[in-house]
Amino acid sequence: MTNSQDLFERAKQLIPGGVNSPVRAFRSVGGAPFFVKRADGATLTTADDKELIDFVCTWGPAIHGHNNPIIKEAISKALEKGTSFGTSNPYEVEMAELIVKMVPSVEKVRMVNSGTEATMTAIRLARGYTKRNKIIKFAGCYHGHVDSLLIKAGSGALTLGNPDSAGIPESFAQETIVLAYNDSEALKDAFSKFGHDIAAVILEPFPANIGLIFPKDGYLQNLRDLCTQNETVLIFDEVMTGFRVTAGGVQEKVGITPDLTALGKIIGGGLPVGAFGGKTEIMDCLAPLGPVYQAGTLSGNPLAMAAGIASLKLLLETDAYTRLEKMGQQVQDALVSTAKAAGIPLQVPQVASMFCPYFSEKPVESLDDAVSTNTDRFNKFFHTCLENGVYLPPSKYEANFISTAHEQGAIDQACDVMTAALKAI
Ligand SMILES: *Cc1c(COP(=O)(O)O)cnc(C)c1O
Repeated sequence: MTNSQDLFERAKQLIPGGVNSPVRAFRSVGGAPFFVKRADGATLTTADDKELIDFVCTWGPAIHGHNNPIIKEAISKALEKGTSFGTSNPYEVEMAELIVKMVPSVEKVRMVNSGTEATMTAIRLARGYTKRNKIIKFAGCYHGHVDSLLIKAGSGALTLGNPDSAGIPESFAQETIVLAYNDSEALKDAFSKFGHDIAAVILEPFPANIGLIFPKDGYLQNLRDLCTQNETVLIFDEVMTGFRVTAGGVQEKVGITPDLTALGKIIGGGLPVGAFGGKTEIMDCLAPLGPVYQAGTLSGNPLAMAAGIASLKLLLETDAYTRLEKMGQQVQDALVSTAKAAGIPLQVPQVASMFCPYFSEKPVESLDDAVSTNTDRFNKFFHTCLENGVYLPPSKYEANFISTAHEQGAIDQACDVMTAALKAI
């Protein structure tokens, strides 16, 4: 069997940086990345036959862990009937019904193939609907690698030190207004200056590509009010938080209704999927009904739909969120109390099955706060956990995920490893 080191050497000859998505290269935490040859439940098995308890969960989609038997069976059943038809299939209707039922603001929905496509098209749709050009985004929010959104972006772009990507024309960037998250004054100013030119505001309602940040009291309501007053389309990017923080995402949790929502990750059950949806009046501007064009050769793919439907139904039919919240709190409590006893400044924001260890004295409320958290401590923590069988995201700017496949024993073991790693700092 080929080990991780051999595979990475071969990959580097043929694939830029040896990876098909940049953070996989471990550049910010240092050290060599590993390859995974299989994954079951909460466990990854590396090409070097090492077993790891996984808190990356394929960056969010694997809310039921890896190789879930029910999802696997749904894929197998769909596979028997063919992999793609180039015409509509029954799964697409069932998927749309589930999404509309689960996500409060979504009246109509369209399936695409990634989160990037979802946010890209939501922006185009908002511009077509309002006949305006400018958009507002927030520093540190990541919305996939869309040109007009790769400005002060989070996730791998920030991790690798290029939140403003090369290759984006100045003229595109000029249509994007970037504001600090949680700064209501800045929002008010932007609307008073540009109000009638602003097609859309897009945000991660809980920014989670710079760790995990929560809105200040009243912040999202204020944003909703400003968008309504200015007839600006409010887009929640819930690619990560959708079906993760609750069945209906952040919008359900905080009771704020966006006009459009971008979805992805969990709705694919581990296969490549995205979706966007919202108010009928806006969605009906899409082709073939309206003038805003969007299409996809493999959109609504039957295998991806079958996997996603099985994944969403499992969430609806079990008490997944109660258990996930309990496990999230257990990890948070263990980390916070150990850090306190050891005199290490640590913040651990947590919601449901998401958490993020920030090595910081004060709570993290914005991109600037996240950037100023301690990188050396995070990297040491990451590597100590990895050496001891616990895989956390390889960047201080990423959220951790727990899945329904994490057994109590795995959580207890991971807590032991993480608290020991904290003490070793
Ligand atoms: C992952 C993510 C995206 C991009 O999704 P891809 O499927 O990687 O294109 C967009 N927005 C948010 C909030 C994400 O977490």
